[in-house]
Amino acid sequence: MIERILNKKSLSKSDIIELLKCNATDSQKLFEKSALVKAENVGNKVYYRGLIEFSNICEKDCYYCGIRQSNKNFKRYNLSDKDILDAARFAYRENYGSIALQSGELNHPAFTQRIEKLLKAIKALSDHKLGITISLGEQSKETYQKWLNAGADRYLLRIETSNPDLYYKIHPQNQKHNHEQRIECIQTLRELGYQTGTGIMIGLPFQSYDDLANDLIFMKNMDIDMCGMGPFIEHSDTPLYQYKNKLLSLEERFLLSLKTIAVLRLMMPDINIAAATALQAIDPKGREKAIQIGANVLIPNITPGIYRDNYNLYHNKPQTKQSDSDYKNHLEKSLADYGNTVEYGECGNSLHFKKRLNLNR
Ligand code: SAH
Ligand code: SF4
Repeated sequence: MIERILNKKSLSKSDIIELLKCNATDSQKLFEKSALVKAENVGNKVYYRGLIEFSNICEKDCYYCGIRQSNKNFKRYNLSDKDILDAARFAYRENYGSIALQSGELNHPAFTQRIEKLLKAIKALSDHKLGITISLGEQSKETYQKWLNAGADRYLLRIETSNPDLYYKIHPQNQKHNHEQRIECIQTLRELGYQTGTGIMIGLPFQSYDDLANDLIFMKNMDIDMCGMGPFIEHSDTPLYQYKNKLLSLEERFLLSLKTIAVLRLMMPDINIAAATALQAIDPKGREKAIQIGANVLIPNITPGIYRDNYNLYHNKPQTKQSDSDYKNHLEKSLADYGNTVEYGECGNSLHFKKRLNLNR
């Protein structure tokens, strides 16, 4: 009886696993419950983060990612400061409320300084109103502090998986790829005062239901403010592609992603949960469906068109033709069809974060 679990105040690991494994009828009940919990806690509202994927140059070699350093089969790009600021201006003018800056991971002073300068410029051009999420990988505490001082509000650093054994099946095991260090980075971000987000990929090769349940418990224990998680999508130019026959089907990964989002909403009712772009790579309405059952943040891609096709983390990534910035009204209407309204002009901070700040006062 799934109702017995859905009515519980707190979920045990076996409850979580049962929910993640539940059949079609029960998953509808799960989704109804998670939609209700969302409506009661954060409302049927969607906050936008205009996404600027400003560079695909990366010094890391994650086995799943199409822009890993060892992949030489595509063109690297790096947007000019002017292009980045123009995109930020566009987001401000369009009343998106927030932007998200994302790129491959680089670790050197020129990069740190560039980001610092850009953050200050984006705050200045928006009268300090535009919220800024950054997702620029593992950095030193000093760098995180500098970027916070320069105006970053939120940081997303996905743990990818909370299981160290699985982590080293999907990353090399070396100085640049270290699971413990990644956890420490998330803790540092939180201590410094960022709204802190993490997340995972769902449907990775070798991943079990037990792993996913532990991932959700990890997020709860870390007391995160936001989460971005979505399906793993194989890329033919990456080492993990060799396991493509071991994966769940794309449809199964999609459904499992929705269930994982729904369960997290039950466990953490007041956090921000993003509807990951990878959902859209499987189902054109994937993000809207995630919003309907518990997510409350959407990340429209506003990277200038000529570069969009080269930020190829995975295959089938929605690209130039389906650009959100060109189809703004369409997206808004589509979200309304799924029962949600876009909160234009709001930077959309995590309610969980606001509460924990007040508690600490
Ligand atoms: N370099 C930064 C940010 C860019 S990558 C970082 O790694 O943190 C952002 C996210 O894309 C990663 O955290 C990963 O979860 C996701 N990603 C990469 N390759 C993917 C794939 N093949 N399928 C699904 N998501 C992927
Ligand atoms: Fe680089 Fe991030 Fe891709 Fe890893 S996931 S290779 S750090 S862009």
